[in-house]
Amino acid sequence: MQIKTDLYIDGAWVKGDGALPVYNPSTGEVIAEFQTAGEAQCDAALTAAHNAFPSWAKTAPRVRSEILRKAFEIMTAEADEIAKLVSMENGKVLSDAKGEVLYAAEFFRWFAEEAVRTPGDFRHSPSGDKRILVTHQPIGVSLLITPWNFPAAMATRKLGPALAAGCTVILKAASETPLTAIYIVDILHRAGVPKGVVNFIMPSKTGAMISMIMHDPRLRNISFTGSTEVGRTLIKESADLVLRTSMELGGNAPFVVLDDADIDEAVKGAMIAKMRNGGAACTAANRFIVAKKIAEEFTTKLAAAMSALKVADGLTEGAQLGASVSIKERNKIAELVDASVAAGGILHAGGSVPAGEGAFYPATVITVDKKNPILANEVFGPVAPIVTFDTDEEAIALANDTEYGLISYIYSSDLKRALRSAEALESGMVAVNRGVISDPAAPFGGVKQSGLGREGGFAGIHEFLETKYIGVEI
Ligand code: NAP
Repeated sequence: MQIKTDLYIDGAWVKGDGALPVYNPSTGEVIAEFQTAGEAQCDAALTAAHNAFPSWAKTAPRVRSEILRKAFEIMTAEADEIAKLVSMENGKVLSDAKGEVLYAAEFFRWFAEEAVRTPGDFRHSPSGDKRILVTHQPIGVSLLITPWNFPAAMATRKLGPALAAGCTVILKAASETPLTAIYIVDILHRAGVPKGVVNFIMPSKTGAMISMIMHDPRLRNISFTGSTEVGRTLIKESADLVLRTSMELGGNAPFVVLDDADIDEAVKGAMIAKMRNGGAACTAANRFIVAKKIAEEFTTKLAAAMSALKVADGLTEGAQLGASVSIKERNKIAELVDASVAAGGILHAGGSVPAGEGAFYPATVITVDKKNPILANEVFGPVAPIVTFDTDEEAIALANDTEYGLISYIYSSDLKRALRSAEALESGMVAVNRGVISDPAAPFGGVKQSGLGREGGFAGIHEFLETKYIGVEI
């Protein structure tokens, strides 16, 4: 596989001010060295995006749509190759990587369809003195920043709506996983995106250079996916030039199993909600809140399913749980589990770092009480803490006892009871009797400190559009 490693500015692949390695977390080996951007390249990317904006904003929506559609087709055709790259730089197993790539491609298809459907509004003013015309226009140059856990999908979930809306962009990927993002930029290049519309940089000093870009008046919008901690910093930074912001931040998802739930279905859903992406998902079930009456059976069955997973290098045939993205991230998971055990948590599966190379951590199940510190943290790994409750009200209170509010899961055989709980759960998304609900056609996003704005669905393109009201004398 030929791996691209350069920056992409104004339609050309260019070198930067240095290079940094990308490691395969399963083996510790260096896969490639990517180019880093200095101030000159960051400024060149802004200039290119700024210059390309007027013409891209005026480009017929059908033309923008067909470029995105072409990108979808290329990405789908090359999914196997891209999945290998994702697995190599991120550590996730090949089946998860392939699933991510196909999901990622769908954002190009969905927003190809949305590009030609931007709605407007025309109405008579109540006093009859004028006509009210409401239209939507692209915001302008947008900075897109993505995390390492879904290196393909987090990029396309921003690139798709931005390009559909008529914005030009500067994309910056996580330092651990830039290679997938570069591949996707190359797909857009091959699909015919005009020069300057998409630019890719990896600043050599992330914080300082992103701050520099965010203080340049040519930038109008920032769309960020990552931790709540960095999100807070960027919201503060965005205040100086009053930038539009979309923030897809951390989560600490509750997975509530009511006493009338089908336990086998709940365990099946739990395995998906917890273990997709090895637990490194903002949507990952992080706190299993289970009715006391059924907790023992649920715990035994979940522990058996978790223990049966084959842990191996993501590219190994049959691997079901790969490596974390780095030894540093793996050690964070181990520390949280150790602290949980020290606070009285009881292990039912996993719980210790395996011997040998690679950033591996086993699938772990731990029963805890309500005060256990693990419940207050986003674990970002294959760890399932289980806490019990007596009443539905207690379950909802436990579920909502967090500063996060991205997604919640609820299992019950009584749809009325499940819906009542879904409405009481403080999160932007609720999965009812399902382990996964992410869909390019649905609005993805959180409440509380999980973020601002929505990606995907009909809402996604509006993160890149301004509403304009034109009042017409009659
Ligand atoms: P992170 O540490 O916040 O990094 C995310 C991105 O921000 C990276 O590209 C990183 O670049 C960049 N960054 C770091 N410091 C920055 C600064 N001062 N200014 C500008 N950019 C900065 O998050 P992560 O560890 O990669 O990802 C895990 C987190 O993402 C979890 O909390 C997870 O819940 C969240 N997430 C949320 C969603 C969602 O849709 N809500 C989806 C996926 C992940 P460098 O790599 O160069 O530092």
